[in-house]
Amino acid sequence: MGFSMLGATCEKDHYDLGTDVDHILREMSLPRHFRPRQHAAVWHSPLHSWRDHLMASLSACESNPIPSVYFRADDIGAGGRAFRALCQIFRSHGVPLALSVVPAWLSDVRGKQLFEAAPLEEPLWGWHQHGWRHVNWERSGKKSEFGEQRPLEKQWKDIWQGQNKMRGIFNDHLVNVFTPPWNRLSNSTLRILQELGFEGVSLEKVFPRGLRPPLSLKNLRVTVDLHTRKARDAQQDFFDISDELTGSLSKREPVGVMLHHQRMTYFAFEYLDELLRILRTTLKAQFLSFKDILHQENDEQACSSLR
Ligand SMILES: [Zn+2]
Repeated sequence: MGFSMLGATCEKDHYDLGTDVDHILREMSLPRHFRPRQHAAVWHSPLHSWRDHLMASLSACESNPIPSVYFRADDIGAGGRAFRALCQIFRSHGVPLALSVVPAWLSDVRGKQLFEAAPLEEPLWGWHQHGWRHVNWERSGKKSEFGEQRPLEKQWKDIWQGQNKMRGIFNDHLVNVFTPPWNRLSNSTLRILQELGFEGVSLEKVFPRGLRPPLSLKNLRVTVDLHTRKARDAQQDFFDISDELTGSLSKREPVGVMLHHQRMTYFAFEYLDELLRILRTTLKAQFLSFKDILHQENDEQACSSLR
């Protein structure tokens, strides 16, 4: 694949000027009315003049310092049109994407499908571990695979076997970060991850205060959720997303955005493409890979680490 699918004569233009997302989606046989069964109300159909609205909100951040932004796509385990489209959009912008893989979902066939869309040798893809089986073990309360109700030795075994499977498939390309399903884990899970040699976790919240002794793990936080939103009022939610983006872009920390390709409609793909274009060209954002963040010296700038 690569750029050749966009047509040899316009390769460079596509790269410089942003992609033709309609072309990509057509190539992937995703029609305009494409909507997976589960999708947030906001992505059901495009809001009138949505590009203008988005541009107007984000361009308000032009006077801020140059933002750092990273993207994390969850629930990766097989190929398919939506996954291919997601990867192609990031490739066309030259923006890295952290891919959060559920180890138990992987098979040889599925691995091949993934690598057709996101070849291992391409540096854009931040392959890392997303739990073990993505199941909820909590009998009550919020869903979690690594919550307080899951015995520690079972948590240890799940993470360990997931890590082994991931190492066997991704080798040197594996990034030492753990994203827990539903962005939740117990304090003890953090200890296990550290013991197993992880360098970072990717959560929604900051680490709980007062963990002793302190951890060396970094927290590569995601603060903007595009696709698993629960709001019913599509128009209001569209503006809420803009507010969340501008709010995050106005802070000193890098902005982490969470994606779920299984829930992306045609409009959600168009929006993502436009968001990447505005971040890249109008805000001149610096795009970080998970590897970049792990290797940044200054925790304060890299991510919200334990304080
Ligand atoms: Zn997940």
